[in-house]
Amino acid sequence: MTSDKELASLVTADPGLPRPNPTQSYWQHVPHPLAETQSESLPSERDYAIVGSGITGLSVAKTLLEHHPTATVAVLEARTLCSGATGRNGGQMAANAGEEYWHLAEVHGPEMAGKIAKFTLRNLEKMQELIEEYDAVEASEMQKIQKLRVFMTDGKFEDFKKSVARLEADHPSMKGIYTILDADTVLKEYGIHGASGGALLPAGTVWPYRLVTNVFDALLKKYPGRLTIETNTAVEAVEYDEKFLTPISSVFPYTLRTSRGPMRAASVVYCTNGYSGHLLPSLRGRIHSFKGTMTVQDPGKAVSNQGKSVSWGFHYPPTYDPDTQRHGYGLYYLGQSAKTGYFYFGGENTRMDEAVSADDSFVASHSVSHLQSVLPRFFGKEDKASWKLVSSWSGIMGFSSDGLPLVGRLSPALTGRRGEGEWIAAAFNGYGMANCLMAGEALALMILGEKVNDWLPGAYELGEQRLQSILTPPEAVKALSSKL
Ligand SMILES: Cc1cc2nc3c(=O)[nH]c(=O)nc-3n(C[C@H](O)[C@H](O)[C@H](O)COP(=O)(O)OP(=O)(O)OC[C@H]3O[C@@H](n4cnc5c(N)ncnc54)[C@H](O)[C@@H]3O)c2cc1C
Repeated sequence: MTSDKELASLVTADPGLPRPNPTQSYWQHVPHPLAETQSESLPSERDYAIVGSGITGLSVAKTLLEHHPTATVAVLEARTLCSGATGRNGGQMAANAGEEYWHLAEVHGPEMAGKIAKFTLRNLEKMQELIEEYDAVEASEMQKIQKLRVFMTDGKFEDFKKSVARLEADHPSMKGIYTILDADTVLKEYGIHGASGGALLPAGTVWPYRLVTNVFDALLKKYPGRLTIETNTAVEAVEYDEKFLTPISSVFPYTLRTSRGPMRAASVVYCTNGYSGHLLPSLRGRIHSFKGTMTVQDPGKAVSNQGKSVSWGFHYPPTYDPDTQRHGYGLYYLGQSAKTGYFYFGGENTRMDEAVSADDSFVASHSVSHLQSVLPRFFGKEDKASWKLVSSWSGIMGFSSDGLPLVGRLSPALTGRRGEGEWIAAAFNGYGMANCLMAGEALALMILGEKVNDWLPGAYELGEQRLQSILTPPEAVKALSSKL
């Protein structure tokens, strides 16, 4: 078993820059024409420099452009457009409000726990609205479906029911979101074997890479001259000019040192998720990377195509195999393409040092074969010979010790620089589709001086108490240990 000392060194490690040669995700197998877009030469100054071109960077850029009449925005991306977690995830648009509510209410009280649940549910609605607004239903293959959460043990099922009952008692307006199913129904109506019970909730599936790249494309057309996207431009360091020696440096006090030379900015916005600790060393141990494994599997004619009606999550108690030192982290997630019938299946069964990693340049073969052997069994199929592996890849998430995102202004104590113009939205703990869009929107509005505290949960903000006593390396170690 990994010792606390080893865990501490993993969570505080420098994630480094995004690796230049990531595994290719199935979502990206046809690159968008903007995949390698960049200006002929890097702009010398921009009002807002956004680091990262995932869904959070997109949301910040879109909100700044829509809410400010003249501001200029540059999105800087180390690799190709949308090549981080957003371009390599599971495509599930679902909230985890039900299963998390009990814990959140214990820690933050029922009011904040309810606010978090509402935020994630509203975020999912907004994802669907964005897809419709940008005419991307077809392109991003969005399906409005129900998610079937399946609990593989009685203990997991009982904890879930208890949590949902408390959510509904504390917040009657959220009654009816979850429909609890017994094991017999899960088997007979949904063909899932080995469950103790399940629950349905409204959800969706999406091709996130196509959504994000299409919206970036539309924004470039709508705001020519105000938005530039600089792919293959790694930000290697950020500096603050305290002396304002030139008029330019008083307006654009930040210098981003990039692989294509320097760029000045008035503000820097970090949408760097699992990589945040590289440019912001004080965040190491506060946000740590976590590597996920995804597969696309073709079941052939072994099972029917349910992609238009349902997606699945399989919850089980964490496992540990002393021989291989591999941990099972408690969750598999599954969607199905309504068009091809392909299954998009992910989940972790790896050593801790492989999981707490920012290296998506390879995918462990044992993680892939594990996913290949597990999936057919959920459908009661022992013979996996007819199931074909279409694709496999890895991707990097950002995790925090309290399981909540970090959204807000970075104080000089966090940046090590005196300026007040650095901001972050990161650490979506594997639930980006339920958080990033509104986290990015909230951050952009905060940057523009608007109030968002009636809808952004205060627990996501960078308050002193959270930073000093919750977002700490020992708490990150405790959080990881509790998953083992
Ligand atoms: C395998 C996997 C499966 C997942 N499945 C789901 C799911 O089904 N549903 C769900 O809700 N969530 C899922 N997630 C989580 C979700 O994808 C993320 O929470 C979300 O995409 C985060 O978006 P982001 O824009 O904040 O970060 P990212 O999409 O990771 O974007 C950050 C970007 O910053 C760039 N960057 C970082 N540092 C620098 C630098 N110094 N210079 C320039 N660029 C830099 C990176 O290259 C990257 O493109 C999954 C994640 C993974 C990895």
